Formats: sequence, C-alpha cells, structure tokens
Amino acid sequence: GIGAYDPDNIFAKILRGEIPCKKVYENEWALAFNDIGPKAPVHVLIIPKGPYVSFVDFSARASDDEITGFTRAVGHVATTLGLNEPGYRLIGNVGPDSGQEVPHFHVHLLGGHPLGALVS
Ligand code: 5GP
Repeated sequence: GIGAYDPDNIFAKILRGEIPCKKVYENEWALAFNDIGPKAPVHVLIIPKGPYVSFVDFSARASDDEITGFTRAVGHVATTLGLNEPGYRLIGNVGPDSGQEVPHFHVHLLGGHPLGALVS
C-alpha cells in the first residue's frame, strides 16, 4: 500500500539536485522534466515540490498555492510544447494496482504522436 513519504525516493533526489534531470519547466511549486524512459515523442513528468506520495495526499494536504502552482505548471508545459492543438494525455499512477514506481506524486504528460486508446 501507500506509506509515509520516503525522502530518499528518486524524485526527492532530483528536487534536491542530487541526481540530474532534463528540466523542461520549473516554478515555485512544481518541477517538470523529461522521463528517462520516454513512451512517446513527448514524455514529461511534472511533480509538486512538496512531499506527497499520492494524489489524495497531494489534494488533501497541499496548500491552495501549491495546488494552483502545480496545476498551472502542467498547463504551461502542455502549452509551451505546442500540445494544445494536437492533444496529449495526462496520467497519474497511484499505488500498487497502477504500477506506481516512484513514491512521489507525479503526472505523466504524453504527446507528440497519436497515442491510441488508453484501455483497449
Ligand atoms: P510511475 O510508474 O511511478 O508513474 O512512473 C515513474 C516514471 O519515472 C517512469 O516512467 C520512469 O521512466 C521514470 N523515472 C524513473 N527513474 C527516473 C530518473 O531517475 N529520472 C527520470 N527523468 N525519470 C525517471
């Protein structure tokens, strides 16, 4: 299940600058960077800077400013990468059934070609 926040998870290390990332965008509350194993021509991960494991954790505990800042970062990245017209997919994996690998809440922004059905 989903436990307490682990400050040694890989995204926490990226936020602290302990391991590098290919940064796409950053604001006061969120960081966006390229996924190391892209599943589409555009595959960006957007993470809040605070210590949240899941979406429920983030939505319940983050401040209004953090939620706004994170949400605007997602929109900013989609817009600046030119994805609003062709479209894109936002995915958030939470917990074991989703296969969430990194226990720091994040969304995947996928695009750059037709993505096909999410579930077929
Ligand atoms: P999850 O399954 O937790 O939603 O997705 C985790 C994502 O993080 C995967 O798509 C994986 O490729 C990506 N990832 C894992 N480790 C690293 C890393 O060190 N750097 C970057 N940029 N992405 C990573």
